[in-house]
Amino acid sequence: MPGDGAARMRALARRALYDPQGPLTRDLLQEPGRFGLGRVPARLRPDATTTVVCGFCSTGCGLTVHLRDGQAVNLSPTTEHPVNLGMACPKGWQALAPLRAPDRATAPLLRNARGRQEPVSWEVALQTMTARFKAIQAAHGDAAVAFISSGQIVSEEMALLGALAKFGMGMIHGDGNTRQCMATAVTAYKQAFGFDAPPFTYADFEESDVIVLVGSNLCIAHPIMWERICRNRRRPAIIVVDPRKTETAMAATHHLPLRPKSDLVLLYGLARLLCDSGALDEAFIAKSTRDFPAFRDHLSAFPLARVAAETGLPVAQLEDVAALLGPGRRVSYWWTMGVNQGHEAVRTAQAIINLALLGGHIGKPGTGANSITGQCNAMGSRLYSNTTNLLGGHDFTDAGDRRKIAAATGIPEDRITREPSLAYDQIVERILARSIRGLWIIGTNPAHSWINQRDFHDILGRLDFLVVQDMYATTETARRADLVLPAAGWGEKDGTFINSERRIGLVKKVARPPGQALADFHIFRLVAEAWGCGDMFRDWATPAAVFQIMKRCSQDQPCDITGIDGYEMIDRAGGIQWPLPAGSSPPAAERRLFADGVFFHPDGRARFVFEAPRPPPERISDEFPFVLLTGRGSSSQWHTQTRTSKSALLRRLYPRDLHVEINPADAAPRGIGPGEWVEVSSPRGAISARAFITHGIQPGQLFVAMHDETMNRLTFPAFDPESRQPAYKHCAASVRRLTPGDAAGG
Ligand code: SF4
Repeated sequence: MPGDGAARMRALARRALYDPQGPLTRDLLQEPGRFGLGRVPARLRPDATTTVVCGFCSTGCGLTVHLRDGQAVNLSPTTEHPVNLGMACPKGWQALAPLRAPDRATAPLLRNARGRQEPVSWEVALQTMTARFKAIQAAHGDAAVAFISSGQIVSEEMALLGALAKFGMGMIHGDGNTRQCMATAVTAYKQAFGFDAPPFTYADFEESDVIVLVGSNLCIAHPIMWERICRNRRRPAIIVVDPRKTETAMAATHHLPLRPKSDLVLLYGLARLLCDSGALDEAFIAKSTRDFPAFRDHLSAFPLARVAAETGLPVAQLEDVAALLGPGRRVSYWWTMGVNQGHEAVRTAQAIINLALLGGHIGKPGTGANSITGQCNAMGSRLYSNTTNLLGGHDFTDAGDRRKIAAATGIPEDRITREPSLAYDQIVERILARSIRGLWIIGTNPAHSWINQRDFHDILGRLDFLVVQDMYATTETARRADLVLPAAGWGEKDGTFINSERRIGLVKKVARPPGQALADFHIFRLVAEAWGCGDMFRDWATPAAVFQIMKRCSQDQPCDITGIDGYEMIDRAGGIQWPLPAGSSPPAAERRLFADGVFFHPDGRARFVFEAPRPPPERISDEFPFVLLTGRGSSSQWHTQTRTSKSALLRRLYPRDLHVEINPADAAPRGIGPGEWVEVSSPRGAISARAFITHGIQPGQLFVAMHDETMNRLTFPAFDPESRQPAYKHCAASVRRLTPGDAAGG
């Protein structure tokens, strides 16, 4: 049955990861011509190898690329790399496939008078872009042009784009698609620790006695991190907090299937149990934190009975779990999108941090309040995109910071922007209000991925000029562009990524971009020349030169990397975690923050931050009686599938049709059978999907993977008020069986 088919494909993807004799592994080894892996024809046999960091997720695995005449012919996971220890997920194995896709953008495309995109020269493209953007700024002010960038480009490109757009072109507003995945963690850490500082190292997965995963389906979203847990010899308790019985929940020792968006109540309830039982590290709380008495008072509103009623979890299970979280054990807490993409996401992340602070579970092996990032360079974006922070984690509004960055970058101080950027959703609102009329989108696909997609399509239509810079001219967003700039992809350019554990790793050019496609770095340099501000960026000539500028920007910050000589040092070490100030000893392979119990606030103390929970913004109703959850579909899929859909092998590892998970108790009264086509609708629209009937989803809930282009017709545009991150994980929905008379469906 089709429902079983979806499960089988997920199981296949998982098994292929771990089983050297599994079917995927056999395919990889026996069909090199088809997949570009395994035995290589003699004419392509590699004559050299080089190690690069994978360009999909934030794990930052090392991949050994096999070269012939300097060009990639093949790759394999790097055995001695400190992150992945010789393992890779299917996306990593297939990292070269998207580069060879037939729909790569190979020339600039300009929309003509008949409304068609037609190839033009780079010269025409750049002249048109600058003329149109300058005309918009002349008529409506500098802030009428904005940019949206990506966590998929290298840090050097982020820094150059941020500096060019704001200091060179006069833009004020620019944000990244990292707003959709990491803004919550950034805000939570800044408020609690005094700096955006994930404290952990991946070794903590292997050294914990208790691993708490909140809103994270690690098995398929970060499979190599899950492998690190599997290497833990301490027989850890694994506690998964997730409404669904995900692949990770199935493998856990404890699954807390709480009601959707009751996590803040749960976390406060667990904190109260720790306080009531005295399972606290009082010395750590006294020396290294502030605001504990007020937090303890706040917890009085969360007696066990309330927590059990609101989360739907039994009292005994709450007590069992709380008993594992005291100071006697090594406890590490990990969270990702199930927390970050919520309506009260920052407070939820901080409730996790609070638990770690109560037990003194921070700065020691096997501990930490640890945010797992999404994209390969979301962490680079957090420090160097020049959007919400001035370069290197500085403050646009601070005159001293502006002076320092002017000196570090060689850019005149009076050109350094004084105003922080609007967030992504606020930029979208300004477009709606027509005060932003020109938009430059780099390496992201918001026409597919932005929450409440129908409105976003309308909003794109309100722009006077839309430039999309991407590897593919076929994305939903590129097809809407007035001008498409063809960009090189991962593997076709140089630079650095920063992974979830703060490790700076190298990306290298191992393939030629097709046609006239150029590295984003070179496109930004060309735009600077065309705009007339090229002189401002004379010192920013190469990615390696920009890395030196980034180092200077980091000086004396918590993320200080002035002790890294350059790319060769990073290459030799297999990546280097920040910080590494000048004069440091050679870095250990794995380092965590806060080992001394001193945080980045001026008084050195972490903050307990808390607030009363709020109900989700969209309530279920008689018409829409289900809560719709979203998340990763399989380890073979990535975001809007712009790249993963280009690999025949990856396509084989996920279901061809979109599926909705529904509990048997909900399917039966609606006459819905396994694999049948159903309509899933919300107050904003409807989509078709096949029913996957499973006890893995609770009654009253539905789950649809996020990758299909129709998915965001349903989502509700709510945002965390602190981080402005969209709340993708919760909206009201209904489901009905489609009959042969319905046009939609199969
Ligand atoms: Fe690449 Fe992430 Fe897979 Fe590692 S786990 S191979 S970084 S996609």
